[in-house]
Amino acid sequence: MDVYLKQCTDYTNAEEVLLPLLEKYKDLFSKNDRVLVKPNMLSPNHVGSGITTNPKIVEIVLKFLLSLGTKPFVGDSPATGNAISVAKANGVYEICKELDIPIVELDDPVEVDGENFRGFKVSRKVLEADKIVNIAKLKTHVQMIMTLAVKNTFGCIVGKEKSAWHFRAKTNTNFANVLIDIHNIVNPTLNIIDGIEGMEGNGPANGKKKKFNVIGISESAYALDHAIIKSLKIKEKYVYIIKEAARRNLIPDYNLISNWNAPGIKLPLTTPIFETVTNITRVFERVPKINKDKCVECKICESRCPAEAINIDNDKYIDYSKCIRCYVCHEVCPQDAIKLVRKIF
Ligand code: SF4
Ligand code: SF4
Repeated sequence: MDVYLKQCTDYTNAEEVLLPLLEKYKDLFSKNDRVLVKPNMLSPNHVGSGITTNPKIVEIVLKFLLSLGTKPFVGDSPATGNAISVAKANGVYEICKELDIPIVELDDPVEVDGENFRGFKVSRKVLEADKIVNIAKLKTHVQMIMTLAVKNTFGCIVGKEKSAWHFRAKTNTNFANVLIDIHNIVNPTLNIIDGIEGMEGNGPANGKKKKFNVIGISESAYALDHAIIKSLKIKEKYVYIIKEAARRNLIPDYNLISNWNAPGIKLPLTTPIFETVTNITRVFERVPKINKDKCVECKICESRCPAEAINIDNDKYIDYSKCIRCYVCHEVCPQDAIKLVRKIF
């Protein structure tokens, strides 16, 4: 199993870096294969936000797949908005229009059981695709610490079912196993990380944009994510998905081919060290707090909260006795109006 991590400092150079890497995997695809290309299309953010997969990377992948005679289509089930609105905001729509590639909403659920959890509502469009190319971003994540290739396949779960899994999982370790179960069901043919620009701090949507200057690729998302974590010098035990994937023997031995000069990264403040402490004392845990001046009362957070803990009409109230600290509200707020603060009360 090979993992490639290649230095790439700008999207204008991405083709000369990514295309030779894609060529190494051309035998994975056959003529007329219906290939789902699954970028990170979290929410309707502008190109260059560092939040969603850059359209240049999507364009390179789509042109490569077309050159092989496959029939690619782009799909996701975004946390806010829908696949078309996100694609219009982040530039993927224009690319698809130019190349005559359909963009689909990953809806039409089919129930599938995972190894640890049962009843995942996976989009039929995912299950019926011949091949899947998973194109993730390199970002921090306030709940999972990092979001990379394994977590990107969570978008194959239909609509609000994603929020429901936060609630069912309850703990971060369980949620990591939910994500792993889903990733194994989706089982992408090829995994790519767009890490030219990403996010550090309180990602995946309201952190700080950061240039990581890397493109990664591998048949194994576990190996790819592991190689990135190691290169960034992040301890494996901090990253729930990597820790649980290692426990479940899912990270294969791999051969790393890298010329990446990995920079430093600021992690979210919710590291597992704090989780251990909070499990004992519940004093230092961080809770969402709405900045009432910034809030525009769109109610996206309320509709996405899996614990029904938010009531915008009731003076933007959050019921902390219900809140499970999943931070979905922080992730989906388009105004960055939700901060995570220490609960010392
Ligand atoms: S906190 Fe954010 S997501 Fe929630 S209602 Fe206000 S602006 Fe919308
Ligand atoms: S209030 Fe926010 S952090 Fe708490 S359960 Fe709801 S979405 Fe999750």
